[in-house]
Amino acid sequence: MLVLALFAGGPAFALERPIQSCAARLLPGENALQASANSARFDCSTRQNDLGPGDFAVRLRFDPVTASADDPLVLHTGSVWQDGETVHMLYADGSEAKLELTSQTTSRFLTLGAILEFPVPYRQAALSSILIETKGSANLRGLVIGPHLMTRSEAARSGVMFVSIYSAFAGLAVALLIYNLSLWRALRHRFQLHYSMMVAALIGYTFTSSGALLLALPTMANNDRLRVNYILLAFCALTGVRFVRTFFEREVREDWLRNAIMITGIAVMLSALAFAALAPWHIGILDRIYFLMMSALLVPIFPLLALAGYRRARHFPLFMLAWSTPLIIAVLRAAYGFNLVSYSVWLDNGNLLAMAIEAMFSALLVTARVREITQQRDHALAGEQSARELAAIDPLTGLLNRRSFIDQAIGLRSRQTLLLIDIDHFKVVNDRLGHEAGDRVLAAVAAAIDECRPPRSLAVRLGGEEFGVLIPRALADKKCAERLLDAVRSAAMPQGVTVTVSIGMSEGQVSSEDDWKRLYRLADAALYRAKSDGRDRACKATDFRHAA
Ligand code: GH3
Ligand code: MG
Ligand code: MG
Repeated sequence: MLVLALFAGGPAFALERPIQSCAARLLPGENALQASANSARFDCSTRQNDLGPGDFAVRLRFDPVTASADDPLVLHTGSVWQDGETVHMLYADGSEAKLELTSQTTSRFLTLGAILEFPVPYRQAALSSILIETKGSANLRGLVIGPHLMTRSEAARSGVMFVSIYSAFAGLAVALLIYNLSLWRALRHRFQLHYSMMVAALIGYTFTSSGALLLALPTMANNDRLRVNYILLAFCALTGVRFVRTFFEREVREDWLRNAIMITGIAVMLSALAFAALAPWHIGILDRIYFLMMSALLVPIFPLLALAGYRRARHFPLFMLAWSTPLIIAVLRAAYGFNLVSYSVWLDNGNLLAMAIEAMFSALLVTARVREITQQRDHALAGEQSARELAAIDPLTGLLNRRSFIDQAIGLRSRQTLLLIDIDHFKVVNDRLGHEAGDRVLAAVAAAIDECRPPRSLAVRLGGEEFGVLIPRALADKKCAERLLDAVRSAAMPQGVTVTVSIGMSEGQVSSEDDWKRLYRLADAALYRAKSDGRDRACKATDFRHAA
């Protein structure tokens, strides 16, 4: 948009012709032509808006311009609140051409950018001056604002520029709206909703302030378009401020700021509605109140941003990059409302450029936010994973606990060998060395078991001083139990005690809970046998069954 504006707007500026405007208040029943007879009545130095509302004659003075028949002149002026105006074009040969409009028929002359375009009929003589009679002028920002004389082809070029800029803005705004509404649905951050509302308000405001509303509804009075404009601009400001507040909600949770924004927000909406409903009754005062409220709404933004910066709110620098242009434009527009800066098409449409810049940075902001959320999610997932792992592990020995072992074992497809391992005379170990050393013995036995069990087997502390190893049948060789007995015997134990274990072995399916119970029962019986046969040995369930 910036590039478009520079390319298209550059030539338009280069072709400017300096125009001086002088205004005279019309007496009751008098018309502009009558007033123009006495040039001493025309005031060229006082700012027009200091002259107050009413009926006026405005003379535009410039060096006489000669146009060509195939590229005649047009006069551009900004659209203002008035009942109507008559434009007298005066030529060097004393001839005159006249155009008339009322608020109701403004759409015939209105072009995009809310610019009134009056065609200047071609005459052989040069155009020497223009006299405009304005009726019921509110004179809020001036009587005839931003007058420009240009050829029709220059006007067409600037028209193309406005169409390009508005189209670009419309596309941008609609994309922003859809994008942020979807983001809001996905992430549920309140500020995204406020942002979407602000963009929607901006789309509406741009539609009315650009004059497109009158192009769509040609019979609408221009003054009614301006009424809608006041309401929509207020809505833009309100949603914009609410967006900023909700964006920094976490860091700036100040009640007084919230209340200030709420109260000024209500005041802004009320003053906009009052203007829309009551104007032109005391229009100057209503307009003043409106801009006063708009400025008041802007005020809490500054302490809010200062607090956010002071508390090192996340994304603050990026936010400031994105929002400094819209903020400057907002302040300038408020100043324009008080006639502190003069009218310019660029200021009038500055929100377009500001929003284009904001959109660019807010895309980065959203990216930063999404990245942050992704990191939080990954972190949470990793935490959940490690919590699940912790819950599955016996803290003393690091082996699986009974619950998770059974969860993993039941449902295994292949036949399994279960080794049930119980420490011999552990009570004695405990009694002699104390419970703490007993714990260390438990850990050492568990380590020995874990060390020598085959891969793809499960090792579990079933409870107390009883352990289990579940080995797929195909991987369990005959020496498994012997190796285990040896490993425990030779393991280094606290205070050099010798510890042995007895092992009961069984073989079978574990496809169901019942299978597991059967397998366990058999191994337990074998273990009992190993104990009664003198401990420090392994016994297979089949061995003693055959023996018995
Ligand atoms: P056996 O050879 O017949 O198995 O004799 P045992 O003394 O090992 O058997 P018993 O079941 O009589 O004793 C088991 C002991 O294990 C009793 C209990 O205090 C001890 N014990 C159970 N859990 C723990 C534990 O977590 N830490 C310690 N230090 N001792 C435990
Ligand atoms: Mg024991
Ligand atoms: Mg025991």
